Amino acid sequence: GREVHLRSRPQGLPEESNFELVEVPVPTPGPGEVLVRNIYMSVDPYMRGRMREGPSYAAPWQVGEVMQGGCVGQVIQSNSPELQVGAYVLGNQGWREYFVARPDQLTPVEPGLAPIQAYLGVMGMPGMTAYVGLLDIGRPRPGETVFVSAAAGAVGSIVCQIAKIQGCRVVGSAGSDAKVAWLLNEAGVDSAFNYKTVADLSSELARRCPDGIDVYFDNVGGDHLEAALDHMNQHGRIVACGMISVYNATEPVCAPRNLFRVVGQRLTIQGFIVSDHWDRREAFLQDMSRWIQEGRVRWQETVVEGIENAPKAFIGLFQGENFGKMLVKIGPD
Ligand code: NDP
Repeated sequence: GREVHLRSRPQGLPEESNFELVEVPVPTPGPGEVLVRNIYMSVDPYMRGRMREGPSYAAPWQVGEVMQGGCVGQVIQSNSPELQVGAYVLGNQGWREYFVARPDQLTPVEPGLAPIQAYLGVMGMPGMTAYVGLLDIGRPRPGETVFVSAAAGAVGSIVCQIAKIQGCRVVGSAGSDAKVAWLLNEAGVDSAFNYKTVADLSSELARRCPDGIDVYFDNVGGDHLEAALDHMNQHGRIVACGMISVYNATEPVCAPRNLFRVVGQRLTIQGFIVSDHWDRREAFLQDMSRWIQEGRVRWQETVVEGIENAPKAFIGLFQGENFGKMLVKIGPD
């Protein structure tokens, strides 16, 4: 089987030469273990942090070794009574075609409700990030204005729709006209714009949020955070989910120049990491499955074919090449 190794640590935007495709023997499951054939693997913005040396909230990948990440596959050999051959599972050993694991390291995937790859997106980590981040950290009330950046991405697109379900007025920003059209026509947001073609982010937000912003769900940081601060209402909440605009920075970046707004507007800026909130997984799965069945939550995915193209897919996240969840298909269904 093939797997992707970290060849070198990137400076700035990662390049394909930072990765290496390596052929290795298919592993043999030991007692109590199963062999999984991967079908989909996830590439996520947080992985940029794992390419860096030094402490972060996710352990760094090691140069010369295979990388890890979310994946969905099928059990093809089983030495455990808990998992039958043919079962679909969610795991954390992406970036490779085959892997061995114990059943307690895997989560069974129910193929009936949503396609299996949805467990890497709307029904998985990004969906739960949207759920916990908006509902528990942002705590929106009906009638409030919620602004979402990277609004057509895996997390952002779900945040927008959960905010609509909560009865909020939702404004989204995204990097292409096609993404803006999807937000308006499919996700049902009240207002959306292409941040790449507006003259000035802050005046655009002033126009689109006439009642100010109560909750800013920040996926981008940088210029988006500064522009949102300009228009936050008193006691507003900023959900610090991610700051993708700074992940490839080679120098420390400036804080928002208007950070003093936090004082006058009595704002709360709160960061969170989804993996601290597994106690909310059951509630998330129940609500999300219902919303999907009721047609109240929709999603998009961009599927890149072939494990050899996984580095390209990952790099594409920083160039807005994904529409919704970015996935790599590495084996037949
Ligand atoms: P997305 O599916 O949103 O993909 C990333 C998107 O970010 C791109 O498609 C692009 O869309 C946008 N983008 C890239 N660079 C820039 C830039 N410089 N300025 C503005 N937009 C940019 O990824 P995810 O949904 O997986 O992640 C979204 C955010 O959530 C990230 O910041 C991520 O780190 C964070 N996250 C946090 C978690 C947590 O536990 N706190 C868990 C999961 C994700 P466009 O075309 O619109 O520019």
